This record gives sequence, structure tokens and C-alpha cells, in this order.
Amino acid sequence: MRSVLFLLAMILATAALAERPDFEELVAKYEEQAIADRRWAHEHAELSMREFETQAWLRESLAAIPGVELVDGEWGTGVVAMLKGGKPGPIVAWRTDMDGLPITEETGLEFSCQRVDTLGSGRVTGVMHACGHDLHMAVALNMTRMLSDVRDEMPGTLLFIGEQAEEIGAGALTLLEAGIFEEGRRPKCVLAIHDHTSIPLGQVGSHPGPSTANVDGFVLKVKGVGGHGAYPHKSVDPVSLAAKMILGFESIVARQMDVNHHCVISVGRIEGGTKSNVIPDEVVLEATVRSLDDETREALPEKIERLVNGIAASVGAPEPELEYYMGTAAGINNPELVQECREVFRRIIGPENEYTYPAGMGGEDFAYFAREVPGFQFRLGVGRPDREMALHRSNLDIPEEAIAIGMRLAAEVVWEQMAE
Ligand SMILES: [Zn+2]
Ligand SMILES: [Zn+2]
Repeated sequence: MRSVLFLLAMILATAALAERPDFEELVAKYEEQAIADRRWAHEHAELSMREFETQAWLRESLAAIPGVELVDGEWGTGVVAMLKGGKPGPIVAWRTDMDGLPITEETGLEFSCQRVDTLGSGRVTGVMHACGHDLHMAVALNMTRMLSDVRDEMPGTLLFIGEQAEEIGAGALTLLEAGIFEEGRRPKCVLAIHDHTSIPLGQVGSHPGPSTANVDGFVLKVKGVGGHGAYPHKSVDPVSLAAKMILGFESIVARQMDVNHHCVISVGRIEGGTKSNVIPDEVVLEATVRSLDDETREALPEKIERLVNGIAASVGAPEPELEYYMGTAAGINNPELVQECREVFRRIIGPENEYTYPAGMGGEDFAYFAREVPGFQFRLGVGRPDREMALHRSNLDIPEEAIAIGMRLAAEVVWEQMAE
């Protein structure tokens, strides 16, 4: 009986295998095209909300893929398209981000971006794909080409999401508010990749549960009473108060928060005063406040307010002005979906190259899609042993072999989610 069951299981497994297209062959067919796509995107990097050429290129490329239909809507500079399979099945969404960063490229690559743009502040800057969104677009586009080749057998529909303005945390909400998941487009799940320089090429990392942070922050005006630096007793020194407050923020994290509920408060900007011997009236601090869970997120503003008011009151200073804001929400990877995708990863790249990475304090507005339907963003290794690189740095030069790995993983997890 046992051997009969085993045989049956083998037959079923073989049948499932037979249904799955030869993705290795499809990757080989489109890898060269994908590298060309990545280079085009890299050379034409654009700032958030200004992805005009990138949008036109993506739209044109998608429209030329057999079976793909562009979806019109109030997407801003985003792009939405669908590829319907010949077999019935669920909608599976795949998101790629599209924007570059205000960074002047220093890679020396032949296809370096030469674009110069002006920021809202008036500062003139170079533009660069320094976060790998060029790679993400090449993966998404060519995964779509691969799936188009086998669309007659595809058991579901691919919803292609080209998200603009990820770097400023604006794209996902714009697309959701414009109804991307409405009118017969609500997906069973939403998937995405992000490249990572700390993960070696050939490896892939996942994290079930919260994996990116709530990205909040504040602007704090520390008020004092200005005067001569020689007679501090005749003033209330906001520089001294600001220093105490900065150390106080660190003590909130170290002494008031549960160590199992991670959070970070970093003051990234401090401004006040004009001259060494003049005590100013005011010092302005700007900080980022990050956490992984809602409870911690909600507890922090009150503790920060209590601290700054207490420190100001202790020397009779005017009450500080605290402007607290809630930014991008934490990204939660659906544990079940993660588990299902990890099985696919292990099969393709081997269990030794697939692992869990710790949650990080970076932000990603993919989180908003993943709050609507089960979502999972996994990390694709682009780390190179021959050079030290980081995302958001002018020297980011990803190994292009990562593109084929990304295409394979992407196509297979999308297919498996449709077939489940
Ligand atoms: Zn980025
Ligand atoms: Zn990014």
C-alpha cells in the first residue's frame, strides 16, 4: 500500500513538473534583452514623479508583448498592464519601482546616466539609478515576456505594476487611490523584489512578518532666550537644551522601550545660531523615528513630547514646538506566502542560498500594497566580492548576472501562486 501511495505521489509530482514551463530556457531566451533593458533604464534614470521617459519606454515595451494589455487610469507616471493566461486562475500582481535618485553617478560605466535635474530646493543634481530600480524593471519586463510565451498554459492573470516615486514614498498610495486593485483587478497576492548589496550574488533573502519599518519623524523647534555667550545665566540656551534632548531620545530607545520591539530615533539635522559668542533664540532639530510594529509606533510620539517638554521646563524655557508626522507604514511580508515562495527559491537556487534575513529599519512603500492583499518582497543578492558598494551610493554597479536570477525566481513564484 505504501509503495502504491509513493508511486501515486511520484506520478502526481511528475504531472505537476510537466505542467511547469521550462523557465530556464525562457530565461536564456530573454537574458540578453533584459541586460539591454537594464542598461537603457540605467542611462535614462529620472527623479520621482518625473519618470516620463521611463514610463513611455515601459508602456511601449509592454504594448509590444503579445497578450499584454495596458490599463489606463490616473496612475501619474506609473504604468499598469495585464497579461491574461489561457487557463482560469487568480490574478497575481508583480510590482517594480521605476525612479532614480538625486545622485551624480560615479561608476564610470559606459551607460552611466548623464541626466542633470533641479530639485524643489533649487539644487542642481545628477540623477542615477542607485537603488537598483533599473534592475527591477528589467526583471519585471522580461518576466512578463517569459510568461507571455507560455500564456496559453498560464493558469491565471499577471497584474504588472510599474510604481513611480517609490523613493519619496508616494507611488503606491497614488496607484491604490486611483483604484489599481479595483474593477476586476484585485490580486490574490502582490510580489516584488529588491536588490541588496549585503547579500552575495546568487543568494536570496526573505523575512516573514514586518521586514521594513514604519518611517515617521519630527521637526522640533527648541525655544530659548538669546543673549551673549559670555553671560549664559542671563539667557536660556536652546543649544544646550537641544544637546540634552538628543541624548534623551537615545535614552527613550534604551530605557523606555521593550528591547523586543525595535525602534530607532536618529536626529539627522540640527540648525541654530550665527556666531560662537551669540546664544540663539531657537534651535531646530529634524529626526527620523522608525519602528516595526504599530504598538511601538503609537507609543513613541508621547514619550518624545514628554521628554522635550520636561527638559525645557527644567530650566524655565518656553515650550518647544513639536511637529510629529507619520510616514510610510511598516512592510509586512505575509508568512504563508513567504513560506510558499521559499519552497520555490530552494528548488531553484538550493537551500544553501536561501535564508531569512533580519528585519531592517529601511522603509518601502510596497507596504501599502501588502496591507491591501497578502504581499511579499524578497531580497535579491547583488553583493560583489571585488568591491564595496551600497544602495543609494554613487558607486553602485550591480553584477548583471543578478538579472537572470531575478527573472527566474520572479516568473516561477508568480506561476506557482497562480497554480496553487
Ligand atoms: Zn532606494
Ligand atoms: Zn529601492
